[in-house]
Amino acid sequence: MQYKFEKPVHGIIGNEKYQCTIEWRNGKFISDEPVTSGGKDAGPDPDTLLLSSLTSCTLITLRMYIDRKGWNVPQIAVNTNMYQETKDGTATTIVDQDIIFSSEVSEEQKNRLHEIAERCPISKILQGEIKIRTFLFKDEDTKRKINYSNDEITVVWKPGFCQHSTRCFTQLPEVFNPRIKKWIDPNGASPEKIDEQVKRCPSGALRFYYNSEKPKPA
Ligand code: SF4
Repeated sequence: MQYKFEKPVHGIIGNEKYQCTIEWRNGKFISDEPVTSGGKDAGPDPDTLLLSSLTSCTLITLRMYIDRKGWNVPQIAVNTNMYQETKDGTATTIVDQDIIFSSEVSEEQKNRLHEIAERCPISKILQGEIKIRTFLFKDEDTKRKINYSNDEITVVWKPGFCQHSTRCFTQLPEVFNPRIKKWIDPNGASPEKIDEQVKRCPSGALRFYYNSEKPKPA
């Protein structure tokens, strides 16, 4: 399993209603709720961000295709909006995208671009099957823990905390192998690599320390 981004999108909210600071690979921006929902409208709300993702993906995909074809289309605009309807107790979200060309584009080119727009990567994600997994990091101590050590390092596993994200054994199989009983091999990779992987555990089930250091509680 390989994540799309080396660093995940990182978001933080404090007491200031409802400003979220979102960090992406090249900077930060604010997401907020409109005033009518108790926010200050200091940045796009989550629905707007969702639609923005589709809008920009459609535009970029169209631009790439037009440039590859060498067509002369200086500007493309997209309006995206959505609504929900409920039928027999099932809510369906309908997303509408209007594509507007401000210059002359032939009928044939328009039809092709329509097809391309419908198949942009974000559109495929939204129309495909999506599974959202939410993990909760636990920082507590527990009596149930198993140590896996070599002369230099110790990896601690707290089985009761594991939320089965599969990150450890799909990303560093040289160290983590759930098919064998002694499933953590501290000799399988460098301490730095193991430490890095342990930090990616979303549940707090894994801990790492150098034997020369006093292990932190938990
Ligand atoms: S990364 Fe952590 S939560 Fe995920 S399977 Fe490994 S130990 Fe469990």
